[in-house]
Amino acid sequence: MSWLLSRVLMLVLGTGIGGWLGWWLGHWMLAAPLASGIGAGLAVGLMGLWDAARARRLVNWLRGDLSGEAPRVGGIWGELSYRMERGLRDRERLYERERQQLEQFLLAIEASPNGVILLDDQDQIQWCNTVAADHFQLDPQRDKLQRITNLVRFPAFVSYLQSGQYNQPLALHNARGKAHLQVLMRDYGVAGECRRLILSLDVTDRERNESMRRDFVANVSHEIRTPLTVLAGFIETMASLNLTEAERKRVLHLMQQQTQRMQSLVGDLLTLAQLEGSPRPPADHWIALDPLLTRVSADAHALSAGRHELVCARQTQMELAGVEAEVLSAIANLMSNAVRYTPEGGRIELQWRLLGEKGAEIAVIDNGPGIAREHLPRLTERFYRVDGSRSRDTGGTGLGLSIVKHVVQRHGGELRIESEPGKGSAFRLMFPATRLRQADAPAMGDESAPAALAGRDDEAA
Ligand code: ADP
Repeated sequence: MSWLLSRVLMLVLGTGIGGWLGWWLGHWMLAAPLASGIGAGLAVGLMGLWDAARARRLVNWLRGDLSGEAPRVGGIWGELSYRMERGLRDRERLYERERQQLEQFLLAIEASPNGVILLDDQDQIQWCNTVAADHFQLDPQRDKLQRITNLVRFPAFVSYLQSGQYNQPLALHNARGKAHLQVLMRDYGVAGECRRLILSLDVTDRERNESMRRDFVANVSHEIRTPLTVLAGFIETMASLNLTEAERKRVLHLMQQQTQRMQSLVGDLLTLAQLEGSPRPPADHWIALDPLLTRVSADAHALSAGRHELVCARQTQMELAGVEAEVLSAIANLMSNAVRYTPEGGRIELQWRLLGEKGAEIAVIDNGPGIAREHLPRLTERFYRVDGSRSRDTGGTGLGLSIVKHVVQRHGGELRIESEPGKGSAFRLMFPATRLRQADAPAMGDESAPAALAGRDDEAA
C-alpha cells in the first residue's frame, strides 16, 4: 500500500503546489480562480508525463531480453518492475533446476548398458542414448524428430511397434547382423497422448553361451550314447545267443573298452567342471617339477610300449607355484596325445626351457602327422577333433586340450600350438616368471625370485 499512499500524497502535493502557483500567478494577473485551475492542470499534466517516462523505462526493459536489472524507478512502476523481476528470476531459477535435473536424468540413462529411445506420439525420435544409437545404427543428433520406422526398417521391428502388444520382448539382429538384440517397448504419456519407450539389450554373449551350453549337452549326450548303444547291443547278444568261451571273452573285452571310454569321458568332464568352478591356484604353493616330469615320462614310456623314441627332460631343479594334480594332468595329456597320434617309430620330446624374464616353457614335440592350419584355432574347443574316429579308437574324449588350456591359463600362462601336416606338432605350456623359482629357494612364495632366473640357459635333459 506504500505506493498508493505516496501516489495520493504526490497528487495532493502536486495539486496543492500547482493550485498555489496558479493562485499566486492569478493574484498578479487578477484572475486567481482561472490561474489556480491552470496551475493544478499543469501539475497533473507534469505528473502524468513523469509517470509515462517511468512506465516507458519499464516497458523498454520488458521488450528487451530481460537479462539485465529491471529499471529502478519509484512509485507503482518501481513496485511493478521489482515484482516482475523477482517473479522472472524465480522462474529462471526453477527452470535451471529442472534443466539440471533433466540433464542428470539423461546422463544416468546415457550411462545405462541398455539402449533407450524415447518416441513421441508420432513415433518420432525424441531422444536416444549412444547404446541405442549403436544398436540401431542411429545418429542421436541427426535423427532427432525422424520417424523411427523410416530408420529402423526390420519388418519384425515395425510390426512389433505397430502391434501395441509389448508383453513379450522382440528378438532382433542388429543392422550389421552380428549382435543379437532383445527389444522391449512400453507406452507412456499423460492426457491421452501415447508416447513410447524402447529398451534394447545386447544379448549376443548370452545367446552364445546358451548355444555353447546346448552344443555341450548335445555333445556329451552323443559321446555317452555311442558306447551305451554298443554296450546294450553286447548285453542283448549275450542274453540271446549261446556264445563260445572265446566269443564271450571277446565280447566282454569290447564291453570293458566301452565302459572305460565312458569312464574317461566322465572323468574329463568332472575335471573340466572342477577347473571352471574353483579359484585360481595359490601363487605361494610350490611344487617340484622334476618328480612331476619323471612321472609323466614313465607314464609315456608305458603307454608307448617301445613304439616311439622318447626323449624326456627331467632335470629342471625348478619349482612352479600351483596345483600339482592339474599341472601333471596337463603335461600328461599332451604326452598321451603325442603317443596316441604319432605313428610307430616316431620321435617324441618332452622339453623344458627357461626364457629369462618371460618365464619358462614345457613343450611336447613330436614328428607325427601334424595338424592342418585351419584346425589349430579350434583344437582347444570341447569335443573338437581333427580325426574323430582316430581319437575315439585311441581312447580320446575330445576334452584333453581343453583341460590343458584351462590348467595353464589358471596358472597365469598360455598354451601355444604349432603344427604342420606331415612334419609334426609342438604343444608349449608357457608359465610366467612370477610362478617359477629355483628348487632351493626359500619355502614361501617370493615374487622377486624369478629375477634370478634371467639369463639361465636351456636345462632340458
Ligand atoms: P582327444 O581326446 O581327441 O585327443 P584332445 O582335445 O586332446 O582330444 O585333442 C583334440 C584333437 O587334436 C585330437 O582329436 C587330435 O585330432 C588333435 N591332436 C592333439 N594332439 C595331437 C598330436 N600330437 N598330433 C596330431 N594331432 C593331435
